[in-house]
Amino acid sequence: MQVLFKNGIHLPGPRLWLDPHEPQSTAIVSHAHADHIQKHDHVLASAPTAAMMRLRGALRCRFQTLDYCQPVEFEDARITLYPAGHILGSAQVLVEWDDMRLLYSGDFKLRPGRSAEPIEVPQADIVIMETTFGKPRYRFPETEEVAQQIRHFCRTTLEDGCAPVLFCYSLGKGQEVLSCLEGVDFPIYLHTAHWNMTAIYRDFGVPLPFFRKFQPGQKLDGVLLCASGCRRSSWFYNVERTAKIRTAYISGWAIDSGACWRFRTDAAFPLSDHADYDDLLEYVRLTGAKTIYTMHGFAEEFARDLCRAGHQAQPLRETTGQLSFF
Ligand SMILES: [Zn+2]
Repeated sequence: MQVLFKNGIHLPGPRLWLDPHEPQSTAIVSHAHADHIQKHDHVLASAPTAAMMRLRGALRCRFQTLDYCQPVEFEDARITLYPAGHILGSAQVLVEWDDMRLLYSGDFKLRPGRSAEPIEVPQADIVIMETTFGKPRYRFPETEEVAQQIRHFCRTTLEDGCAPVLFCYSLGKGQEVLSCLEGVDFPIYLHTAHWNMTAIYRDFGVPLPFFRKFQPGQKLDGVLLCASGCRRSSWFYNVERTAKIRTAYISGWAIDSGACWRFRTDAAFPLSDHADYDDLLEYVRLTGAKTIYTMHGFAEEFARDLCRAGHQAQPLRETTGQLSFF
């Protein structure tokens, strides 16, 4: 199968685009994070991804929603979405064409999360995989251990008469952090962007603890979840003016030394919605693929490690017109 890597993955044989970065007539979209969506004419995606894309402005797209593990024929290919464990609705895409099985991982996580469907990894001949954390120094602690640290941070901050603010992305991380706060005895507030996305999670039946929408100007008597970009907003300035706050950044990058200094927060917690280094290796093993193409993050370094371990691997680069032949 031929792969053209040019502003997204293009498979000329079955005439498919996977997560293209420019609008296309038809595209398969793995999940609704901003770097994976565009205003295409026709989109094949999971139902939650379609709902999130609509919320993010893709109102003119015609959506064909696919269930997980249910193959559909499209053009000359057979396409099956498998849950990717990254955020709600995230999918790996298996393309079967010309007696080949090509698996595109999208963004994925092997560890079970609280707010996304657990991953199911199919077998494939060729894998195109994300390698965001593809260096051995990225090994994450147990999820429950990090969740306890986050709850402890919130509780002690409130006991000290301050208000905890957790900076996290509005889609995926926000809902995972919210789920980690299950059982706490203080109010949980979500900023508008988090609130809107969380409503979709609730509509799709994800169990979540009770939360409230933060109204700018109100007294903050619990924990606030918002994006780090909010610190530039006037409403956030008002929060800082009227309450003593302590901030924490929630991201896989918190594993790096100096994370608090880098994120300008009081604390940083390594909770990620991506696979860590060991889980990237495990993913390769689970697919049974002979040929692996890496993308995002440490693509070159991880491909080199795979080659040293006896795999046939190379990074895919966003080079105009680059062709890879399998
Ligand atoms: Zn993502």
